[in-house]
Amino acid sequence: MGTQPKCGAPTKTGGSCRRLAMVGTSRCQLHQGEWSAYGVAKRKADEAKKKLKQRRKK
Ligand SMILES: [Zn+2]
Repeated sequence: MGTQPKCGAPTKTGGSCRRLAMVGTSRCQLHQGEWSAYGVAKRKADEAKKKLKQRRKK
């Protein structure tokens, strides 16, 4: 508790989801699982960035 990341998934209204992400996932209960096209695209971009950061750290 305390450091749970926020979902942050883009919404159809142009904003980003403010729900807290579920434990063990990077998305809230509304956006986890079968993600819509925009969610998948953003996830791929985020994962690519994370990989770059992890490689740079080590
Ligand atoms: Zn969400």
